Amino acid sequence: MSHYRAMLRVRRFYSLNGNPIHEDRRLGRRYYQENNAVVSLGQHILIEGTDDDSPFVAQLLKLFWDVNSNQMKAVVHWFVRMHEIAQNKRKLLGRDPHPQEVFYYQDGSCDCEVNVETILGAVQVCAHIKRAKFAQGSRGPCSSRHLGNWSTVVKPLQAFTHSAVFNCVFVPLQAAPPTPQTPRHATPSIPNRSQPARKPGNMLEEARARLHVSSVPESLPCREQEFQDIYNFVESKVMDGTGGCMYISGVPGTGKTATVHEVIRSLQQAVEQEELPPFHFIEINGMKMTDPHQAYVQILQKLTNQKATADHAAALLEKRFSTPAPKKETTVLLVDELDLLWTRKQNVMYNLFDWPARKHARLVVLTIANTMDLPERIMINRVASRLGLTRMSFQPYTFKQLQQIITSRLNRVKAFEEDALQLVSRKVAALSGDARRCLDICRRATEICEQHGQQGSTGLVGMSHVMEALDEMFSSSYITAIRCASLQEQLFLRAVIAEFRRLGLEEATFQQVLVQHQALCRVEGLQPVSVSESLAVCQRLGACRLLLLEPSRLDLLLRVRLNVSQDDVLYALKAE
Ligand code: ATP
Ligand code: MG
Repeated sequence: MSHYRAMLRVRRFYSLNGNPIHEDRRLGRRYYQENNAVVSLGQHILIEGTDDDSPFVAQLLKLFWDVNSNQMKAVVHWFVRMHEIAQNKRKLLGRDPHPQEVFYYQDGSCDCEVNVETILGAVQVCAHIKRAKFAQGSRGPCSSRHLGNWSTVVKPLQAFTHSAVFNCVFVPLQAAPPTPQTPRHATPSIPNRSQPARKPGNMLEEARARLHVSSVPESLPCREQEFQDIYNFVESKVMDGTGGCMYISGVPGTGKTATVHEVIRSLQQAVEQEELPPFHFIEINGMKMTDPHQAYVQILQKLTNQKATADHAAALLEKRFSTPAPKKETTVLLVDELDLLWTRKQNVMYNLFDWPARKHARLVVLTIANTMDLPERIMINRVASRLGLTRMSFQPYTFKQLQQIITSRLNRVKAFEEDALQLVSRKVAALSGDARRCLDICRRATEICEQHGQQGSTGLVGMSHVMEALDEMFSSSYITAIRCASLQEQLFLRAVIAEFRRLGLEEATFQQVLVQHQALCRVEGLQPVSVSESLAVCQRLGACRLLLLEPSRLDLLLRVRLNVSQDDVLYALKAE
């Protein structure tokens, strides 16, 4: 852009024709109306800056003779370039700016007077982005109504071949007021959006943020009853100063963690409003521990700030929950991903269920697990009934519920076509009812929609985007292997899932699966398989790693696991 430098080397002369149209004696200013000038009022102008290559852009509002400084001055309205906007605010634009784009600078505190000598010349703002559309050297003011939400072309009126594309958007900017000579040092910032942006790109981004699994939704539709039951359970224990344990189970993505967190938040609010005695909330997560015995260490540390080895911590906790302490406040302990605290002797889990039943413990334990029958497996029934465990099971979401969850998270951000949302919800509900998977697929679909651009479409996420996202999510060599497997192999996989679901576990013995396998054969009108046939099928599936089989064992008690997710198996078998 050397033409600007060339321009700066030219000495500029200014004159004002005619008489002042208005005089402000108090400020010592005489205002002029420019009729036959190179620059006219209302016109857009380039103003000398510190960088010759990118002069400032402004709109000329007034011209006056400043009696105090004996100089001719101009009142202008500033525009700013992207590099003058604070780094962290740039992303709010929601797209990449054009290198020469400028933004309407809306800040009343900004000093907007410049010496007229700094004006380089006029620029023309056109309503079209195509450069060919404006005539070289054409002139005439561009009315500010053109500075709307469209791209504009700005061109110096002097004999330069350069044309600059300025997209003038009304992004309100707040900034420390720049001096007229150095507006580029201003650090304007874009205030937060009060409404979702209307542009499709931004809207998709907004939708993506709302659908992100880590974002906390404003509400948890379809879990009102579960919320209320858990709330009542904890509230009553805290009120009475007693203790208890609740066992919450359900398949992944059914909102267990989200609901319990919401309950705790609401209870803490009740404490703040003095509707509930204060309680001490601590949380541990089986997933975040390298060894189940770490649970003792973490609970002790969170409770008392004390550090101890696992054995020592266990002894200290045992003592704490067994001895009376009159002023003890209730402790609410959330143990998430309890399944992973499984030990050979099962002592960690046992203690977690047992402590709350101690007379002096004042301990409420909320345990969350995927497995339904953990308590039975670690305790003999007599103990289970003594502990009076309260149970709650989160059912997989239905199609309608998933649709409602997504719609509520999007909260009026219209990013999806109705049938596209239906398709995701139906697919996921048919497989697992996992809201997390549903959110992931929807997010991926917004990305695919964005990548495809909007040619010929509404700009909304449609069926094709969702189908592609679904395919991606479930596509793997395993899926192909399942689709190419023999009928008996496919039936065996179905039998594995049926048995897992019956048990509420991710593992079964061959014998248990066999019963399901034979039942499925009957349902399908096939000859029932023999034990050896079924075992051979099981082995083949193990050989191609669709199943994980207990090594060096080939009998009825052979333990069987899936090496792919249940979703993937069901997807491969259903989505033909
Ligand atoms: P896991 O067993 O794998 O830990 P989970 O049952 O604890 O799963 P969450 O982590 O609570 O599942 O939920 C998974 C995701 O789905 C989270 O992002 C959560 O916000 C969202 N979600 C689940 N249920 C709802 C709901 N009813 N409304 C809105 N969002 C939900
Ligand atoms: Mg969870």
